[in-house]
Amino acid sequence: MNGALNRASGTTAREENTVSDHMERVVALTKRRGFVYPSSEIYGGLQATYDYGPMGVELKRLIKDDWWRDVVSQRENVVGLDASILMAARVWEVSGHVAGFNDPMVDCKTCKGRFREDKLEQSQCLKKKKMTPLECGGELTEPRLFNLMFKTKAGPIDDDAATIYLRPETAQGILVNFKNVMDTMRVKIPFGIAQIGKAFRNEIVTGNQIFRMREFEQMEMEFFCEPGTDEEWWEYWKAERLRWWEELGVRKDHLRIRPHSDDELAHYARACGDVEYKYPWGWDEVEGVANRTDYDLKKHQEGSGRGLAYRDEEKKEWVVPYVVEPAMGVDRCFLTILCDAYAEHEKPNGEIRTVLHLHPRLAPVQVGIFPLVKKDGMPDRARAIYDDLKTHFRCLYDQAGSIGKRYARLDEIGTPFCVTVDGDTATDGTVTVRHRDSLDQDRVPAETVGAFLRAAMADWTRPETATA
Ligand code: ATP
Repeated sequence: MNGALNRASGTTAREENTVSDHMERVVALTKRRGFVYPSSEIYGGLQATYDYGPMGVELKRLIKDDWWRDVVSQRENVVGLDASILMAARVWEVSGHVAGFNDPMVDCKTCKGRFREDKLEQSQCLKKKKMTPLECGGELTEPRLFNLMFKTKAGPIDDDAATIYLRPETAQGILVNFKNVMDTMRVKIPFGIAQIGKAFRNEIVTGNQIFRMREFEQMEMEFFCEPGTDEEWWEYWKAERLRWWEELGVRKDHLRIRPHSDDELAHYARACGDVEYKYPWGWDEVEGVANRTDYDLKKHQEGSGRGLAYRDEEKKEWVVPYVVEPAMGVDRCFLTILCDAYAEHEKPNGEIRTVLHLHPRLAPVQVGIFPLVKKDGMPDRARAIYDDLKTHFRCLYDQAGSIGKRYARLDEIGTPFCVTVDGDTATDGTVTVRHRDSLDQDRVPAETVGAFLRAAMADWTRPETATA
């Protein structure tokens, strides 16, 4: 049992578990509860690709909606876009990705592994699996550059002219549409264009489940501003993004912004601040806020021969705007939220209770509704409450198995409240509301339970006791 006390060391077995055990337990929960499955699993899987199950697809949709509401819908100066994944090859030649979207790759002459030189401390020797390629003593080759873009062919003729790329970032779809949006919408600098969509990178190293995948989804926003105001906007968007993370209840001491050093900056960026999260394996990037300057628009202006400037009426001149870009992977955001919400609590009997302390606004199921037992009219009463509440909240009705097992199942998918109809409901019209985080139980009149739940969700704060 994980929580049992080790008398010699005075620690629980759970505390002695390694980081990888911790990550393994988060991953096991994502599988057990229908959040994430390995892709093509019945054929042995395909490395670094994953499928989202019924709970996962809900959580992912809620994350994207939340981001969209915060970055687009609630702002007058940001609009949305949905560009195609397949774009003209020239886009990627001109943007510098064909020549420069590379990672340094090294081979190990001993275990024959291939690793990213700048991520060796996060990689695993193929022979000595508990060691990194820096620790195992294997001899590494000099680094060489490996382009991360997936190449494919468009159309029936298989020649070089048909080569196209799967987009490695959604940003270029926005940048090449800058003029379209300027010309068709009533937007004025400074303004942003946001997009959520798939991106593909042929990553050298993968790992930590959905943290680094070859097919993933991004939420990006390009904010076009007057040159000279870019630093101010860069600061602004870093602060805005951090605020969003904190509002979701993610622990403040697990979040930080780390500026890039000059040698790690992407070829298009003047500055970049990564929002980093303290994962089970240490601090790592979840989101980047980059100052891309006028690099991309100027390149596309030259490459396409089309003007990508705006008219500055005060200065009476055409100006190519600077671009500040908050860019995040949806999947990495999903993993971050799960890692932060995951907790194991020891029950008085020594058993472990696993809980996702998700913010109620992200919970795939917000309210579980149960009859205590399947008799005495309880199922009918519980169903009536379900039919009423499901128009206001994401609800689940469950009458199978013991009440303890039903609570435990919903704890593991992060359901913040359960409503139980019992013997007293028929006589006094009240139900029990059980709180996931505090385990408190309140007796609430059935007819006002909706208002009670709404207030409890609005008041939610992350419990101090939740540890991961
Ligand atoms: P890393 O250094 O981890 O490879 P990056 O700096 O290359 O990431 P960006 O190009 O800034 O990443 O992409 C923006 C965001 O897209 C990242 O912060 C991350 O959340 C997400 N992302 C990038 N690559 C992947 C991937 N292979 N799998 C999942 N998400 C990714």
